[in-house]
Amino acid sequence: MRIGQGFDIHRLVEGRKLILGGVEIPNKTGLLGHSDGDALLHAITDAILGAAGLGDIGLHFPPEEQAYEGANSLNLLRKSAELLRTKGFKILNVDSTILCEGPKMSPFYLKMRTNIAEALDVAVECTSVKAKTMEGMGEIGRKEAIAAQAIALIEETENV
Ligand code: MG
Repeated sequence: MRIGQGFDIHRLVEGRKLILGGVEIPNKTGLLGHSDGDALLHAITDAILGAAGLGDIGLHFPPEEQAYEGANSLNLLRKSAELLRTKGFKILNVDSTILCEGPKMSPFYLKMRTNIAEALDVAVECTSVKAKTMEGMGEIGRKEAIAAQAIALIEETENV
């Protein structure tokens, strides 16, 4: 078995949709980014790629490439999971934490987990999404950014 971790942070700005875990969350500001800015899915993508020793999201989906402008990050996660499968890895479970001061994330956990499970081709029970505030401290506490952390456990399979 192998383990990987991922982290991401994006700025919150006006005029962008807030998308986390592939779910559009009603909010006055959204995450700035070349893609849809989904920091949670980017952290999870880095966690699974890292577990397999396959680099990171920027290596496989370069931000300077026009193809990924406004990209749905669920597609990037799905493609990364497919890459792991072709390299002979099976994803066992993924845990994650969103760092944000608001809005409340818990109403969206199940939909996020369903999206993540579908992209990874694992059961919803093998996914986890949690959230923490920063108690008003720092750029996240001032609602200038949202960050996410993720960890993934994978195993090498025989049938490559
Ligand atoms: Mg990102």
